[in-house]
Amino acid sequence: MFDTHAHLNFKDYDKDREEVIKRSLKEGVSMINIGTHLLTSKQAVEIAERYAEGVYASVGLHPIYKEDYREEDYKYLLRSQKVVAIGEIGLDKKFEHKNQLPFLRRQLALAQEHDLPVIFHCRMAHRELQREIEGLDIRGVVHSFTGSKKDARYYIDKGLYLGFNGIIFKTSLDAVIKETPLDRILIETDCPFLTPPRKRGRNEPINVRCIGERVAEVKGISKDQVFSATSQNAKNLFSI
Ligand SMILES: [Zn+2]
Repeated sequence: MFDTHAHLNFKDYDKDREEVIKRSLKEGVSMINIGTHLLTSKQAVEIAERYAEGVYASVGLHPIYKEDYREEDYKYLLRSQKVVAIGEIGLDKKFEHKNQLPFLRRQLALAQEHDLPVIFHCRMAHRELQREIEGLDIRGVVHSFTGSKKDARYYIDKGLYLGFNGIIFKTSLDAVIKETPLDRILIETDCPFLTPPRKRGRNEPINVRCIGERVAEVKGISKDQVFSATSQNAKNLFSI
């Protein structure tokens, strides 16, 4: 299995990060730790560098942050072979600020320049995001997808993947999940957030199994089919 969106780089795991990672790898769950600004991006890379396999990193400046975006800092991190994507980047209407759009554009350019896929964060801004990527030839995933069926269709037609996490237990995304082909689906935890029901406290990568199980249930197919397809999707998208 593959948790395509984890934040073990966050301080929530400072006390037991290694144990959480070991537990995941022992259960056969690989992961990508996602940067949200320069410091967490650096930490994601440092963590990934400690493991021969199964732990990867993504670097980028999340749209809610107002810190300055400097290409050279992120380019430096891209020298690591463990960086498999640029993200999470995108648009967030709830925390809008004047640099969101320029930073998104510059990071999309960085991804293209380095031929890397993109991990999008998009809150209440699908129309705006679609306008930005319309003319671009990009690879990537819209993580934590909560948009409409129409939005889903747009991204799928664009060749992007949709990432589903514990939100599917709170908001019904069944119709979207049913219509999304299995070869366009990624599963993720977004840990430490969004702990699935029946699990308690801080979320962690092994719980990605719950997401796969729920997707299987909605689609009426076997869990193993979902686990293997989504893992293969992750490997394809992130060239692992
Ligand atoms: Zn995230």
